[in-house]
Amino acid sequence: MKLRLRMLIPLILTVPALLTADFSAAAEKRLNVVSTLPNFGSIASAIAGDRIDLTVIASGTQDAHFVDPKPSYIVKLRKADLLLVNGLDLEIGWVPPLTQGARTARLMPGGAGYIDCSAGIRVVEIPLSLSRTEGDVHPYGNPHYLTDPLNAEVVAGTIAEALKKADPAGAQAYEDGRKAFVRRLHEALFGKDLVDLAGGSKLSREAQAGTLDAFLDGTSVGGSPLRAHLGGWLGKMQAAKGKAFVTYHKDYSYFAERFGIRVVEFVEPKPGISPSAKHLEELLTRLKQGDVAAILTRPYVEHRSTDYVAERTSVKVLTLPIEVGGAPEATDYFKLFDYTTDQIVRALTGGSPAAGR
Ligand SMILES: [Zn+2]
Repeated sequence: MKLRLRMLIPLILTVPALLTADFSAAAEKRLNVVSTLPNFGSIASAIAGDRIDLTVIASGTQDAHFVDPKPSYIVKLRKADLLLVNGLDLEIGWVPPLTQGARTARLMPGGAGYIDCSAGIRVVEIPLSLSRTEGDVHPYGNPHYLTDPLNAEVVAGTIAEALKKADPAGAQAYEDGRKAFVRRLHEALFGKDLVDLAGGSKLSREAQAGTLDAFLDGTSVGGSPLRAHLGGWLGKMQAAKGKAFVTYHKDYSYFAERFGIRVVEFVEPKPGISPSAKHLEELLTRLKQGDVAAILTRPYVEHRSTDYVAERTSVKVLTLPIEVGGAPEATDYFKLFDYTTDQIVRALTGGSPAAGR
């Protein structure tokens, strides 16, 4: 009897130790996800929580077209299970040098870990002929699709599928995470009240088909049209609908379509091309028509050109981020739109921007 107890005691003592070891081993097996840009990182993080270890390469204050491919990122890539990219050649100047440096076939186009988030996106401004002549940096169409929040719904689906494939044990968690993200996105865009009444998926379909206005005006609930329940970013941005804007780069095409604003001119004559003196004079002439509500520029571009035209007209200049982290307030994908829509509406209603210029 004594002997058996002696044998049992070490066993009892080692069981909890074994369990702990098992748990930490599982924790160490967390997926290693690298995202080229902060917005994809924010969406992946919302879906996967602490099931993944996330590294984001570019910061929100960097121009996504031109990021320095630092060797430290190569080290991160060697350990990565998944690489989330924008695609449409947005990162053509800096992702290939990194994946080639890391020598990880799975993270190169066609590899199991290479996740092109533009899959399933309805790309706009696709040129008739593929050309980089004169430096156009949008050879496959406009790559800034996450400026439309509804495209994040598509991207969330792409990322969730990739996570499920790479980590089947977490499939249910990723699906739950995706659903929660999309629900939150719909509520942020349309307002919770309207989502509760009409359903987020229905609203999303109408908005993507360009029939949301007709649906809201033509559908009544309890004697009042659904439009009366529109809230969220879209509700707020009704004040900006139809208003004319100038953007520095051609990076608000999807945003403009979603929120019904008009982008009538660009500070850059072509995406990626700095403005000439002649182009700035033409822009000045356009601005003197007096209908442009504001010039929307970015944290990482030169400000001389916008200062030049702003000094000669009364047009406001707003420096707005298009990526998470591009302003201190834009701490995640939701806060990015909270902030940008606030700033735009504030500029229109005569208030001065809360931050920036
Ligand atoms: Zn661009």
